[in-house]
Amino acid sequence: MNTKDLSIEPCPCGSNERYSDCCEPLHQGTPAASAEVLMRSRFSAFALQLSDYLKTSWHPDTRPEQLTLEQGTEWKRLEILSASNDKKQGTVHFKAYYLERNYLEQKQLEQKQWHLLEETSKFLYENDHWFYHSGDYQPQQLKPSRNDECPCGSGKKYKKCCL
Ligand SMILES: [Zn+2]
Ligand SMILES: [Zn+2]
Repeated sequence: MNTKDLSIEPCPCGSNERYSDCCEPLHQGTPAASAEVLMRSRFSAFALQLSDYLKTSWHPDTRPEQLTLEQGTEWKRLEILSASNDKKQGTVHFKAYYLERNYLEQKQLEQKQWHLLEETSKFLYENDHWFYHSGDYQPQQLKPSRNDECPCGSGKKYKKCCL
């Protein structure tokens, strides 16, 4: 496990809050106040590989029996484009950027592939909790070049950041 104290780190969901003031309480059992908040906490759970949280926040009707998180996948950036909910259901339209690392030839060679996932997700509110229900998503590969803005959202050039 990671030895650094995650609580004081910026939250992976990109809120500019500390993890302890943002998604950590949700990961520890505090109910999400809205569909958007649940969506953020699920992104952070992907980033931190909290598969139990991903399962419990998934609606029982659509929850996969097995949830395998790929070890080489790093969830880098979440961008919420729009979010709305009433008391029973909600919708969140977002973009998520992630990086897949593949190692070739006894880990001598590393291949990186960036992806952008754009999804409109549906959330349901039941038993005092929000649940992720389903989404239509369109993953696409990104090919950032050296002088592009880094897909991780740092604002730096790719060659000076994640390349
Ligand atoms: Zn967060
Ligand atoms: Zn970067």
